[in-house]
Amino acid sequence: MILILGGTSEARRLAGALGERAIVSLAGRTSDPVTVGTTRRGGFGGVDGLAAYLAEHQVTAVIDATHPFAAGMSRNAVEACMAAGVPLLRLTRPSWQDHPQAAGWRWVDSHDEAALAAAEQAHPVLLTVGRQHTQDYVPALGGHRVVARVTEAAGLALPDGWVLLSSRGPFTLDGERALFAAHGFGAMVTKDAGGPMTEAKLQVAAERGMQVIVVRRPALPPTREVSTVEAALLWAQEQA
Ligand code: NAP
Repeated sequence: MILILGGTSEARRLAGALGERAIVSLAGRTSDPVTVGTTRRGGFGGVDGLAAYLAEHQVTAVIDATHPFAAGMSRNAVEACMAAGVPLLRLTRPSWQDHPQAAGWRWVDSHDEAALAAAEQAHPVLLTVGRQHTQDYVPALGGHRVVARVTEAAGLALPDGWVLLSSRGPFTLDGERALFAAHGFGAMVTKDAGGPMTEAKLQVAAERGMQVIVVRRPALPPTREVSTVEAALLWAQEQA
């Protein structure tokens, strides 16, 4: 059996193609996740827990198709697969570093840095950094006008005056144009998530001449890596 570490559209496409050969693992952060194929939910319990899971379920290969910012899971996968002697492939969608507008963005290494940079920009600021990190922006932007867009808003307590939007991608150009025009954003903060599902905001920000602040991806330990679902499926076919 192939274990797909999921939570992304790429993982769903892999699961659809691999069918009964695969099981998808989700962290369980989203109450109503979009799922394809057989799914398990919840953490494994660190490196040792994942290594034990691989042995117990006779996993023959692991595809880490998690989000580029799910660094803890990706690091654990490298260690656990090495310990268990199970082949690992990381499927990483291409970064936005090569986006036509990338050279004009402000690239930062952390959410704290992004928050300080955003505080200097024209408001309102659109935050698209995920539910787990939205609150990191409160100390620097608490007194500013902010619109925070997250997939699921449950449990987020934000300052008065912040607008919380709960919506799940993919986002279209027309939809983003309407949203950006309605709020008159001065700046936007995003992670370098990569991929087409949330890319429209980058073009619309450029059309409106907005400052874009991009949080760089976390560094990960080296392992065999591909950037497309098709390449991951080819690798999966080679596994026992
Ligand atoms: P993370 O910080 O790297 O992971 C923290 C812990 O959560 C892991 O050590 C693991 O717990 C558990 N975990 C994470 N992904 C898991 C998975 N696919 N299956 C089982 N356990 C998992 O992860 P995260 O950034 O919170 O992301 C969580 C999930 O959301 C991932 O599946 C990711 O693909 C998806 N996602 C993340 C983002 C993002 O921006 N971070 C965006 C979209 C989707 P144990 O140590 O107990 O095993």
